[in-house]
This record gives sequence, C-alpha cells and structure tokens, in this order.
Amino acid sequence: MPGKIITVEHLNCRYNSVEVLSDISFAVEAGDYVGFVGPNGSGKTTLVKAILRLIRQESGTVSLFGKNPGEFSEWFRIGYLPQKLSFLNPNFPATVKEVVSLGLFAKKRFPKRLEKSDRILIDEAMRLMDITDIRDALIGELSGGQRQRVLVARAIVNGPELLILDEPTTAFDPEAREQFYHTLQDLNRNRQVTIILVTHDSATIGKYASKLLYLDKKVIFFGSFDAFCASEHMTSYFGEFAQHLICHRHD
Ligand code: ADP
Repeated sequence: MPGKIITVEHLNCRYNSVEVLSDISFAVEAGDYVGFVGPNGSGKTTLVKAILRLIRQESGTVSLFGKNPGEFSEWFRIGYLPQKLSFLNPNFPATVKEVVSLGLFAKKRFPKRLEKSDRILIDEAMRLMDITDIRDALIGELSGGQRQRVLVARAIVNGPELLILDEPTTAFDPEAREQFYHTLQDLNRNRQVTIILVTHDSATIGKYASKLLYLDKKVIFFGSFDAFCASEHMTSYFGEFAQHLICHRHD
C-alpha cells in the first residue's frame, strides 16, 4: 500500500538562537525502513521530535500520513521509543505485562479498560519481543536489554503503521542486538510497519535499512542504501576500509 507516511519540507529548528536543523526536506514512503545516521549532535533526535511535534519548529512543514499539520490527530498510528525514557521510573512497581498494556491506552476512549481482544494483542507483542517468560517480572528487576524489549513491545502493541526508535540498541549485547534487528526486519517486511531507526550502529544499519538519511544539521544524503554506498559521502563519512564492510549487503 504505497503512500507518503512522512513529508518534511524546508524544516528549520532552533534551540534558543542556535540553529540545529536547517532546511530539511525528505519523504518517507509506506514500507520504508529508514536509518537516521550522523555524528553526535547532528540533530537526529531533534528531527524525530519535530516529526512527532514534541518540539516547536521554526519554519517548514511536516505532514504525517498525508495530512497537513493541524489536521493529524491519529497518534495511535505511530509507535515511538524515545532515547531517554523519562516516563519510566524503574522503581515503579509495574510488571512487564502492565508496561506493555500501557501502549494500548492511546487509542482508547474512556472508560480505559482492557478487553479480551486487548489481551490477545498484549500476548502477541510480548511473543514478538520474546518477553513472554518474564511477563510477571517487575521492570526494575530486568537487564537493560530486557527492559528495552519490553518498551518496544509497548510501542508496537497497538499495531502502529509507523515505528520510530531512537538509539534502541545501546543496552544490548551483540547477540541480543542482532536478534532485535531481525525482529524489526520482520515487522517491516511481514507486517508492513514503516520504520525509522536512529542509530550509531553504522556497521549494521546497511544490512537492514532500505534508505538512509545522513544528517549533519542539514541533509547530507537521503536515498537508498545502495545509492549511499555509491556516493562520495559514504567514503568521506565511513572511510575506504569501512565502505567495503558496510556496503556488503546480507539479504
Ligand atoms: P543527535 O540526536 O544527532 O545527537 P540532537 O538532536 O540531540 O542530536 O542535538 C542537536 C543539537 O541540539 C546539539 O548541539 C544539542 O546539544 C542541541 N540540543 C539538543 N537538545 C537541546 C535542548 N533541549 N536545548 C538546547 N540545545 C539542545
């Protein structure tokens, strides 16, 4: 089902008087798996927040699901895993299952009560993220990687059409990271979830993402991963040696 999921046009963002994003334009299509890459401080998180209207932009437009700003209100269509989880206090005595179920409430009107169909969705999200066996554990008892899988389950339990993850794999060991990427790939390929993944994991992103947005306050490159490999930006950013490693596709 083709269509534009996100259209960003001439977006500018500032913090106080400092320009952080300058004249950003690109579009994400249904089914894309886009890696947001770039050095620290290049504006990746700011761009995600601007897309989700969590910060005020200076100028430009961001349309979601073909709707102009102001017309869009179906936030349940988007799953978001922020980089900093200020909403989650690890000492709060909630179980894994309870945290996952929180993801359903965005869609619900009052009374916010879980139905049988909700429990099926919760079980399915936990199965996908391989956390069924820890469903009754308290989130404060989990390892960083386990907790991250719980939060992804919370972000996908609603069946979002767009999933945005900001540096989700920092708490993972290499094996768990690979498994996590496979799960995202499954969501993208088999469940038609459009994915934006903000990552520092430059060596792996090309294995999974179909497109790359290389950011450094402005768009340095946006396009298919293969086009990125053929471009001068690839060599200048990753170096000659890494180019051969990273551009070797594994699918
Ligand atoms: P990235 O995600 O690529 O590391 P960020 O979007 O987090 O980059 O940050 C872009 C720039 O904006 C950085 O220079 C950062 O210091 C600055 N910045 C981020 N958040 C704030 C904030 N709340 N107030 C002021 N400056 C900020």
